Amino acid sequence: MIAEEEARTKVLEKIQMRASRRVSLSHALNCFAAEDYFSSLPLPNFDNSAMDGYAVMASACGVAKRLRVIGEQPAGLDRQLRVSPGEAIRIFTGAPMPAGADAVVMQEDVTRDGSEIVLNANVDPGDFVRRRGCDLTEGQKIVAKGELIRPATIALLASQGFAEVTVGGEVDAAIISTGDELAGLGTELQPGQIYESNSVLLQALLQRCGASVKSVQHCRDDADSLRKTLEQTIKYSVLVINGGVSVGEHDLVQSTLGSLGAKIDIWRVAIKPGKPFLFGRIRECAVFGLPGNPVSAFITFLQFVRPAILMMMGATNLDLPKVPAKLIVDLQNEGDRPHYVRGKCENGNFSPIGRQESHALFGLSQSNALLRLAVGEARTRGDVVDIQLFD
Ligand code: AMP
Ligand code: MG
Repeated sequence: MIAEEEARTKVLEKIQMRASRRVSLSHALNCFAAEDYFSSLPLPNFDNSAMDGYAVMASACGVAKRLRVIGEQPAGLDRQLRVSPGEAIRIFTGAPMPAGADAVVMQEDVTRDGSEIVLNANVDPGDFVRRRGCDLTEGQKIVAKGELIRPATIALLASQGFAEVTVGGEVDAAIISTGDELAGLGTELQPGQIYESNSVLLQALLQRCGASVKSVQHCRDDADSLRKTLEQTIKYSVLVINGGVSVGEHDLVQSTLGSLGAKIDIWRVAIKPGKPFLFGRIRECAVFGLPGNPVSAFITFLQFVRPAILMMMGATNLDLPKVPAKLIVDLQNEGDRPHYVRGKCENGNFSPIGRQESHALFGLSQSNALLRLAVGEARTRGDVVDIQLFD
């Protein structure tokens, strides 16, 4: 059995990053930038109006002043107009500021009188003008290599005219569930059977971290069929095998992987739940063996598989988001492994939810966060602890 941090480091050391690729901006969501991106245009790119109103020279304005409207500048091509004292130009949001104008009076603050306006408010220089470069200057880093491309990142890249971006490679994955007791969804349960719920769980977790699930198969606890299924699925970059990684006579995953020439790097990690975790490689395929208990599968996925997949996709930040929260009960880890307590983080508080056993799926379904308690760690109600958010 190895320490959790050592296991994570070992997994990440063996992981190969996928080759980067060019994608159109509209396909870049949830990918990771494969290089740094810099602005080539300032934002805004020219001084423009923040309001529908009138472009004026502020020094020639004041309450009750009358100005002659000498033209109109809508958003679009610059009409190259010029405003002088005593004059105003009708202007709209996003339109370029006419020469001579240093402020915009919003239309709500004027009374229109034929070809003139009467000002109902004072005007200061800079009022309702968006200055060139006030948001972003030229040459600024706008996206860092390894950064997640989110909707706003896409908009920022688009504002610079990028039609395509280089992002980290795709990860294709297969899932194999094992166990004679498992019945497929939509079938009738026989006595002693349970529904196979981990494949869909793992599929959802894989999809959420950006992997593309190409194959989901179930195997009975039978070495031959497991071997056949493994042979079909090691062509993918990631294989997640669920169940059968423990020490019982029906736990065939490790020996079957061995018979196929897999290199087993890790088996058994000091983590609760999730001790029988396995990691190995067959050729280019990274193989993760997760315990069958649903909560163990969930926790080991988040702590080991998720960071590995993110790294393959070129991400820099491999951790779940961490936030401080106030503990609402006393908690102590009296076990011999770090314990991931499942619970709910709400309004800055963290409360453990439901039974904390590795089969207790209902409690997990009501939780959105994990508190890691190191061996011997004791926390009291009111302590502020760092928790990992998973939903
Ligand atoms: P195993 O790791 O194969 O020893 O399984 C441990 C526990 O997890 C047993 O109670 C299994 O019935 C349960 N289990 C294993 N695989 C699944 C699955 N795919 N869906 C739901 N429960 C499972
Ligand atoms: Mg089993």
